Amino acid sequence: MLKTRKQIFIEQSREKFSDAEHRRKINHSLLQSDIAFRKGIPQFSDLQSAKKTANHIKRTTIENLDIYLLRFEKHFTQNGGKVIWAATAQEALDAVAGICKEVNARLVVKSKSMVTEEIHLNPFLFSRGIEVVETDLGEYIQQLAGEPPYHLVAPSMHKSKEEVADLFHKKLGAPEGLAPEALTQFARKILREKYVQADIGITGVNFLLADIGGVALTENEGNGRLSTSFPKVHIAVTGIEKILPSVRDLALFWPLLATHGSGQQITVYNSIFTGPRKSGEKDGPERMYVILLDNGRTRLLADPKARESLYCIRCGACLNVCPVFRNIGGHTYNSTYGGPVGSVITPHLKEMKEYGHLSQASSLCGACTEVCPVGIPLHQLLLHNRQLAVKHAARTEKFAWKLWAMACSHRRVLNLAGGHTKNRVAALLFANAWGKNRKLPRFAPESFNQLWKKQR
Ligand code: SF4
Repeated sequence: MLKTRKQIFIEQSREKFSDAEHRRKINHSLLQSDIAFRKGIPQFSDLQSAKKTANHIKRTTIENLDIYLLRFEKHFTQNGGKVIWAATAQEALDAVAGICKEVNARLVVKSKSMVTEEIHLNPFLFSRGIEVVETDLGEYIQQLAGEPPYHLVAPSMHKSKEEVADLFHKKLGAPEGLAPEALTQFARKILREKYVQADIGITGVNFLLADIGGVALTENEGNGRLSTSFPKVHIAVTGIEKILPSVRDLALFWPLLATHGSGQQITVYNSIFTGPRKSGEKDGPERMYVILLDNGRTRLLADPKARESLYCIRCGACLNVCPVFRNIGGHTYNSTYGGPVGSVITPHLKEMKEYGHLSQASSLCGACTEVCPVGIPLHQLLLHNRQLAVKHAARTEKFAWKLWAMACSHRRVLNLAGGHTKNRVAALLFANAWGKNRKLPRFAPESFNQLWKKQR
């Protein structure tokens, strides 16, 4: 019998939890993030009010999403770009395939983008004979390893420098045991050649700017700029929620994202693309497309509570502080977006029936909510998902819980069974969910009610 996603999740969580080396590596990386974050935070004289402002801007924008998206389209089109609306992942893939066919593309360079992971763009293009090269170093490492990104902003944080050196040796023929600086130089040499040969550059989007029809991209390696400067075509793929009303909002959102993502005051390279190359400009693409992807986001929008998760700016801070993520790591979630935010949005983007269990992957400690730069009440949204998951539970499970509730709310029924029977029923029903490593609580031979009656 095929295992359910929930069973796989529980199995892999157990495995990762007991893998001490894995935990050592991610805890080391997370400690570095935490130190950097603490150093970056003092740049905000009043962080709480910065978060409140960001929350207010995102709330207003998401509540008026249609207006701002159309405004973006109008201005971006006036700038000479083309907007493509994609309701599903397949529509986005078809759009990319169509553009590739038009320009007879053989090589695509990509800068980091979680949305393209969400639609599985790389395997799709490979299946059509098009080479795709990730140019963000962390993503490049993951591509070489044949693994999806591990973390929203640090795709290969679970790999030690020795493992990366070994990977470069095996996959690229690099000398054995190279130090991180030498590995970077090695990758850089390969990637530089790809930029100039590429037919198309594909990027993600950090923010869409409605008032100027612009796409804001923020990165630390310069690969985003190189991916968009040399190729003749630039395709930016983005979720519809990335919109901001104005270019002026970047004054708040860029530092918020940088500090919560990597502890920097501001990310090294911040670019705004407003369409293809204009006459007189020396570089940039001849054509620029923005693919606006829904792929389940309007389902989030339709839910007044879950809608708040659309404020997310993908900084990754909630993953870094989550005690569950710290123990089970990023791949165990088996979804593009891991950690608290992934557990909130994935069941809506995909199927509540299949991914509803992710809402249980939380201690509800609230650390994610506390750290979130745009004030998303993540732990409350996890509770909301738990309620929705109950509605989607199998009929047999619902029936079993009805029986359980009926028995527990009738003292006479409860007293029919002695402690021994209750222990056996509990072991039958809950042993798996409770986990092999924890002892189930034991029922006493006689209940308090029975003892009370006897005493009197
Ligand atoms: S939910 Fe908040 S903390 Fe988590 S990635 Fe999104 S913006 Fe960052």
